[in-house]
Parts: sequence; structure tokens; C-alpha cells
Amino acid sequence: MFMNSKETTPKEEKMATLTTTTPIEQLSNDEILRYSRHLIMPEVAMEGQLKLKQAKVLCIGAGGLGTPLALYLAAAGVGTLGIVDFDVVDFTNLQRQIIHDTDDVGRLKLDSARDTIRDINPNVEVIPYETRLTSDNALDIFRDYDIVADGTDNFPTRYLVNDACVLLGKPNVYGSIFRFEGQASVFYAQEGPCYRCLYPEPPPPGLVPSCAEGGVLGVLPGIVGSLQALEVIKLILGKGDPLIGRLLLFDALHLKFRELKLRKNPECPVCGTHPTITKLIDYEEFCGIRGEEHVPETKVPEISATEVKKMSDESQPFVLIDVREPHEYDICNIPGAKLIPLGEVPKRMHELNSADEIVVHCRSGVRSAKAVEFLMQAGFRRIYNLKSGVLAWARDV
Ligand code: ZN
Repeated sequence: MFMNSKETTPKEEKMATLTTTTPIEQLSNDEILRYSRHLIMPEVAMEGQLKLKQAKVLCIGAGGLGTPLALYLAAAGVGTLGIVDFDVVDFTNLQRQIIHDTDDVGRLKLDSARDTIRDINPNVEVIPYETRLTSDNALDIFRDYDIVADGTDNFPTRYLVNDACVLLGKPNVYGSIFRFEGQASVFYAQEGPCYRCLYPEPPPPGLVPSCAEGGVLGVLPGIVGSLQALEVIKLILGKGDPLIGRLLLFDALHLKFRELKLRKNPECPVCGTHPTITKLIDYEEFCGIRGEEHVPETKVPEISATEVKKMSDESQPFVLIDVREPHEYDICNIPGAKLIPLGEVPKRMHELNSADEIVVHCRSGVRSAKAVEFLMQAGFRRIYNLKSGVLAWARDV
């Protein structure tokens, strides 16, 4: 069912367990009128609309991505919508979080979102969770839901949502946004890769700026969150091709959609063949946020992009190592660079020869500085960090 809409495949039987099986309800006459544009579509029809009504979807966050998720899922007739949020509406939220009004500033986002949803569709039961999602409460909250839609903007929660979904066998409809760029996927470990298969390690703390730090175009979460809502509805209906095993990349500035194929990592610590993560962990610590507010200064030798280009032009022998993730490498890379993602550097160190001159790079120079620091501790001496990484290469070379 998740793959193609072939009839009676084993996957379709699995799908039946995804939505809660309650006695088939009927739609009221009001509902039949309300959902008439769905009911006349063969892909939805009465059967699909009843599936939507019986479905329980949990939205993590009532912010930028949570807005279109909650609004469209409610309008579409998803019967039960859980929302996890503990924040209050801030004046700076209104530029994109259109589930909240100017009058809602200072109110709990949950209250404001619930009121808006009620106005849109009083048939929807909203279950608010006024709490920060933690390792202690995530499994209990998730357990009752068929699908989790992740609208968070921080790495500890993203890994927490992923792991909780893998442990409970639930699909995690993922979206993320930054400035003009968005991503979406469906991480469903029973059918494909999870978020950890794609990003085994979190980025070093402070490397990826948040929307609060870097900004986001107001309409972008509207688009990405709508894609998430679409994927949720498709999963409930069991129609079409979901984004399982695919990462959709959206560049709003150039209006381009691209897609990367994702593979399940058999070594994945949570969904692989021999998982090492079998219960929820401390995600703040995992993401290096706790106790590492100030990163100690170390002397990492640096080299500029123009110097590297000159070495290359003069055919000086050196080895260029790219420590980004494979999907970043696929998008753009410096010719001749060997890919060793930061997380693999320790175990693949033997592929490097300490007698060689080595230049390490990443996107901006932060991850590669960590790699250089590690390799220096391991005894490498002729090693340099490419200052400002691919960004400098693109700018200066
Ligand atoms: Zn995985």
C-alpha cells in the first residue's frame, strides 16, 4: 500500500494496522456536504473519508510547519489531531505561522491553534499536549497515534521523534526549512530508511543556524508543511507513492524541486539489523548541546581556497578529503575530493597516509576543523582545514 496502489499486496494488509480500527462510523449529512469534493474522487470516496475520520495524527509543534499541517489535516477531516507545543505566540511568529492571529500574541500556541481548527472544522478532536517533548514522555504520547508529523526546528527533538517513531513502528512525516530551502521525506523504518540512516550524527552544535538566527521566508513553511500534510493524507488513504526512501529538496528562490534516493543503512543504530539504540536516550547530550556552550579554542592549521587551487594548478601532490554527508557531496563537490563523512573519519582513518599532505573540507569549515583536530590527535601533521569550505571554494575559485 505504501508503494503502489496494487490491490491486496502484503503491504496493504500492513496498512490496515496503521489506522486505528474502530467500528466503521458514518458521516453525517453535514460532513457529506463538507467533504463532497473528496467524496467524488475515486481515490478518496466514502471509504477514504472514513479512514481520514478514524485517523489519529500527532503534530509536533504548532509553528511554521505545524500551521499548514494542522490546518489542512483538520480541513480534510482527520478525526483526531494531537498537537505538542509549550510555546506562546510571539509577534515575530505571525509572518509565517498563520494559524495564529495578531490578537493571539501572548497566548499559548496550543490554545490559539485549537481555536482556529475549531473554526475550520468542529468535527475534529484536538488533543493538546502542553509540554516539551522529552525522552520521558515521547513514547507515551506517540503510542496512541497512527502517524507522527514532525514540525520541529531543532536537532535533539528531531532525533527524539525519529527514534520514538522507529521504536513504535510509526511513520514520521518529516519537513525542515531554512531561508529559501526546504526538505521533506517520510521516515518509516518498516518500509525504508529513518532519519538516522540519512544523518547518523547530528551536526556539531552551532553549525546549523536556526530559523530564528538565519531567517526563513514566510511562505516556505507553508509549502513544506503542506507537502507534509499531503503525505500524511496519502498514508492514511494508502494511495499514491509516499516519500519513503526519498528526500525531496525544495529551492524556493529558484523554484526547483529535486529528489535524492535514500537507502536504509543496515548499520543504522536504531533501525539497522543490530540496533544499539533500543530505548530513548539523552538527545541534548547526543547533539552536544549540554555543557558545550563554549567550544574550546584549538589551533587547527588552515588553508585558503585560493591556495588549494594554486597547489592543484601547480600539480603539487596532496589529498583532498570531503567530510560532509554523501547527499551533500552529490549536490556539489570539489573535483578530486575523497568523501569520508565526519562520523566515519575515526574508523576510516587507515585509508589516509600521514605522509601525504592532506586538506580537509566541509561546507563551511566547522566539521572539517573537527576532523583535522581529531586526525592531529591521531598523529597526522601535514594536515590543513580548508577555511570556509565549499562556500569559499565556490566564492573564490
Ligand atoms: Zn535508520
